[in-house]
Amino acid sequence: MELQLEPLRLPGIDPKRPIVIAGPCSAETEDQVMDTATQLCKKGIKIFRAGIWKPRTKPGGFEGVGTVGLPWMKRVQEELGMLVATEVATPKHVEAALEAGIDILWVGARTVANPFAMQELADSLRGVDVPVLVKNPVNPDLELWIGALERVNGAGIKRLGVIHRGFSSYDKKIYRNLPMWHIPIELHRRCPALPIFGDPSHIGGKRELIAPLCQQAMDLGFDGLVIESHCNPDCAWSDASQQVTPEVLDFILDKLVIRSNAQSTESLEALRRQIDECDNALLELLSKRMRISREIGQYKKEHNMTVVQTDRYNEILDKRGAQGVLCGMDGEFVKTIYEAIHEESVRQQIDIMNK
Ligand code: PEP
Ligand code: MN
Repeated sequence: MELQLEPLRLPGIDPKRPIVIAGPCSAETEDQVMDTATQLCKKGIKIFRAGIWKPRTKPGGFEGVGTVGLPWMKRVQEELGMLVATEVATPKHVEAALEAGIDILWVGARTVANPFAMQELADSLRGVDVPVLVKNPVNPDLELWIGALERVNGAGIKRLGVIHRGFSSYDKKIYRNLPMWHIPIELHRRCPALPIFGDPSHIGGKRELIAPLCQQAMDLGFDGLVIESHCNPDCAWSDASQQVTPEVLDFILDKLVIRSNAQSTESLEALRRQIDECDNALLELLSKRMRISREIGQYKKEHNMTVVQTDRYNEILDKRGAQGVLCGMDGEFVKTIYEAIHEESVRQQIDIMNK
């Protein structure tokens, strides 16, 4: 299905890249909301985000203040002249948010992964003209993401955008949520008119990664950024480690290099980004391989087997070398890589044996 789109038309917002949406992960107290919004406003931020309802992985976490926080958002609009955005996950949230005059709604990653929830949300938006930003689903499934967009669009919402917040994975990683940039890039290729925002806070999961991830999103031609910012990040009730003060946010935005997105994708910069992406994927895979190798180490320990099984090792070297040749690489080069991987694998298994 082709999406029927209109520009986001955010009142008072310059469509110049990047469109920045900033604010705390969660609205916690009226003071925290007003303090953060006031500081952001002074730094020139015009769109304020805050989660009122928070989907938490485990029960017992802070699930958001709920509707009591909506009048705080109204104060941000009225006293600071900012637009306000919040996450909706159920028709009740939609009703309450619209009633409170929230300017922009976004749908969170966990909700987008659930077609029933998405359809209910879409139905609750029928007949309303409000901009809706749809985050990617937690799992790297482009069709599921597009399906969610089609549901919302099918309910008549034409001011649509997407937020790339990365994809969850099991293995140890640099990022909280793997960016897998090729997925938003493919979405953008298929729907060029769909504005795309990067969410470096949820991709990175830590403050140090926000600046490079913002730059990466800009280098890929994204239209905007959604960044978590809190007046007192260390004391935040949710996502503390990934929030920055408005001061730091301003510094990060100031340092961003914004290149024209008219640039050809064949440019050196774009190719280097692809190399970075490949290296990230390689490291993730290597870490997964090591995890499995440690499990094998555990098995060998329990069954009183030696760490190095020479036949298996030779088999791997020969097979991978031959596969490498089929893929256009030098067989010796591939063998060298596998020798190094094997060495580390053995080191990790010996570690397990001696525990
Ligand atoms: C959020 O934006 O605070 C949030 C809960 O994000 P996500 O749905 O990407 O996890
Ligand atoms: Mn968050």
